[in-house]
Amino acid sequence: DPRIHGIKSQIRVVPDFPKPGIMFQDITTLLLDPKAFKDTIDLFVERYKGKNISVVAGIEARGFVFGAPIAWAIGAKFVPLRKPRKLPGKVYKEEYILEYGSDCLEMHVGAVEPGERTLVVDDLIATGGTLCAAMNLLERAEAEVVECACVIELPDLKGRERLNGKPLYVLVESH
Ligand code: 5GP
Repeated sequence: DPRIHGIKSQIRVVPDFPKPGIMFQDITTLLLDPKAFKDTIDLFVERYKGKNISVVAGIEARGFVFGAPIAWAIGAKFVPLRKPRKLPGKVYKEEYILEYGSDCLEMHVGAVEPGERTLVVDDLIATGGTLCAAMNLLERAEAEVVECACVIELPDLKGRERLNGKPLYVLVESH
């Protein structure tokens, strides 16, 4: 699709951020370009519209930026998967291991009904640990995860292999 090139060109790559050796994929520059931002959302909406998806679950924080407009456009509800102690209600909680230390995602109990067809959205997949934790939360709510969707994949980190065979759709790969 000719729109992909425009999207990729608006993602700024920042060497040694947030620490030495990391090539950070900065999506804030993509958000500054209304055409590239719209194309990004449109590509996801074209893929998921009419697929009977009733839930879009977005991962804090950049998964909210892409997930919420997709949910709006396909007529699904938006469910935020949040960092610890942000959600006021009863939550499911999933801890996951990072390179250094651990992190955690929470989802409100009752936000998703059993069997609801769900799309999980984040900006980027690296090791796949974050998406794996997100899918575990949805599994505990007995949701049916249809697919995971990210703007960017770092395929060298093989995060796709941690998704237990669940399909992953990405717009851009970065090496
Ligand atoms: P993973 O759990 O797959 O190793 O890491 C993915 C998570 O870390 C995502 O929530 C993503 O937002 C964040 N992340 C890791 N590296 C980058 C990066 O280079 N750019 C951006 N925008 N996010 C990153």
